[in-house]
Amino acid sequence: MTSAGRFAPSPSGELHVGNLRTALLAWLFARSTGRRFLLRVEDLDRARAGAEAEQLRDLAALGVTWDGAVVRQTDREPLYTAAITELAAAGLTYECFCTRREIQEAPSAPHAPQGAYPGTCRELSTAELEFKRSARPAAIRLRSTVAEWPVQDTLHGAYTGVVDDFVLRRNDGVTAYNLAVVVDDADQGIDQVVRGDDLLPSTPRQAYLASLLHMPVPEYAHVPLVVNSDGARLAKRDGAVTLGDLAAVGIPAGAVRRMILESLGLPGESLESALEAFDPAALPREPWVWPGV
Ligand code: GLU
Repeated sequence: MTSAGRFAPSPSGELHVGNLRTALLAWLFARSTGRRFLLRVEDLDRARAGAEAEQLRDLAALGVTWDGAVVRQTDREPLYTAAITELAAAGLTYECFCTRREIQEAPSAPHAPQGAYPGTCRELSTAELEFKRSARPAAIRLRSTVAEWPVQDTLHGAYTGVVDDFVLRRNDGVTAYNLAVVVDDADQGIDQVVRGDDLLPSTPRQAYLASLLHMPVPEYAHVPLVVNSDGARLAKRDGAVTLGDLAAVGIPAGAVRRMILESLGLPGESLESALEAFDPAALPREPWVWPGV
């Protein structure tokens, strides 16, 4: 299988300029290294009817091209189940009955990092398990054997972050993002992951999980986000931020693309000219403050 990069949006609504900038970057990274570029719709959670079609339309309007058919996570449940079964067979999972509230209120284990699962359900006795199973459905957690894990990132260099007993399948049966993303990237031959740097802290969990599943760890590039004038991550409430909103105030897709490319220090005339000039080492490392319109 030839190597590939990807863009993997959650179809929760229209893409805004922050998402579009990440998509353009993922495309530039992939195409500049001769990779295929794949599109995966991460619709396990937070999917809104119609959003996928809007997202694909907007990516196409920017000139983003992708290879092969769009993949949807909801079509791939057997792959996720197989991975969880493999982990379970290796003794690397356990059932967890904690509510979010119980986790928040539990005393954290000594030296445990902030926000890490405290391990409440890790060593339940058979009797406890039976009792808890009768009360509510279980989530499946990873029985992690490490506390942290190192990854290498093209833009951030060496990065080591927390690995706790994170959820693989929620108690409503929905596969968790951290499991699905690892399984999908490996299955699709994706060896280059370019995405927003808000996901850098999750990356050690994913790389560790890939190693447990004997899957290759992709090359990572976590790119800076787009922020509003208060420095907060751009959101729909920040005014005209989608291609639809911007077109309505007289800014066509081509002009939005130019703004995004120029914010990256690249020529804005066309995607081809940006591709020719693209150099990851020269990319800005700070968030882009959306100038607003
Ligand atoms: N679906 C995730 C999002 O839209 C991105 C996941 C990824 O790129 O790994 O935030």
